[in-house]
Amino acid sequence: MKMEPILPFAERTCPRLSVVVPCYNEEAVLLMLEARLAAACREQVGEDYEIVLVNDGSTDRTWPLICVLAERNPRVLGVDLSRNHGQQLAVTAGLQICRGELIMMIDADLQDPPELLGAMIERIEAGADVAYGQRVARHGESAFKRGTASLFYKLLNRLSEQNIPVDTGDFRLMTRRVVDQLNAMPERCRFMRGMVSWLGFEQVAVPYERDARRAGETKYSVRRLMSLAIDAITSFSTVPLRLASHLGVLSGFAGFALLFWAIWRWSENGVIIGWTSTIAVMLIMGSIQLIILGVFGDYLGRLYIESKGRPLFIVREVRSQSRASERGPV
Ligand code: UDP
Ligand code: MG
Repeated sequence: MKMEPILPFAERTCPRLSVVVPCYNEEAVLLMLEARLAAACREQVGEDYEIVLVNDGSTDRTWPLICVLAERNPRVLGVDLSRNHGQQLAVTAGLQICRGELIMMIDADLQDPPELLGAMIERIEAGADVAYGQRVARHGESAFKRGTASLFYKLLNRLSEQNIPVDTGDFRLMTRRVVDQLNAMPERCRFMRGMVSWLGFEQVAVPYERDARRAGETKYSVRRLMSLAIDAITSFSTVPLRLASHLGVLSGFAGFALLFWAIWRWSENGVIIGWTSTIAVMLIMGSIQLIILGVFGDYLGRLYIESKGRPLFIVREVRSQSRASERGPV
């Protein structure tokens, strides 16, 4: 299934560089973000850039602010999603709408320095298709977050077949052909950094120190992080399914061993092993069946979501100086 472009931007020209930024309740940081981004872009590509700010259903003044920015700077394109769809889908929307030859993904909170753009462009000009930021230090993040992140990447790389680089986020620069491929991937549970590394091409790391958030708060609660982690693992690994069958085989062996032991003791000295062992076996079997059911349920749930075939997001409105009153959905 190939996705249609969201909006008929046929007459928009293709700039050298597009920057895609998901914004969810980022009013405190938007002005600073636009200033730093525009300066970094100007330094690298002159005026040949666009900044796509995707408002992911913010409940604060993020959208009105984006509108102001779009009015002030003709290179800013504001996109307003109809509700909060989550960071991964907000980025997906931006990637489908942007038109640049090179595309940078960056968070709104300025934890990732836009000034790294120059180094990333160098890598791409040297022949890479993806230059991703790799964090050598993380400032302003709790030991808990750093610990769980590192554990998560280890687990993910253990479980999935392709290698997802450790300590990277969505901060990266990609060529048009990579983004076209990404846009053509129809899956609905989207773990972007995994999808990009799954695509292949030449991908190189650009090391940097990650700052603390400039303003506002993290949008990722432990619950949301867990759900992103589960998305990542079930999207890129079928090992949990296999794990279920391994457990099944193991428990089968254990069951038979117990059974033979009981028969042996009975035949040797006539001892009949009582209820305890029976109940223990029943409990073990029951719990294993539940685990297997749980894993199946998770995959089944995903099939269910895929089968509904809903659009990934619905754009309410698109705002830029040239087409101020464009309306979606299309
Ligand atoms: N974000 C979003 N939708 C959401 C949650 C987050 O678009 O539902 C954006 C957010 O505005 C930011 C980026 O995703 O630009 C990363 O979020 P955050 O900085 O809170 O994550 P963290 O850096 O704490 O992992
Ligand atoms: Mg952040």
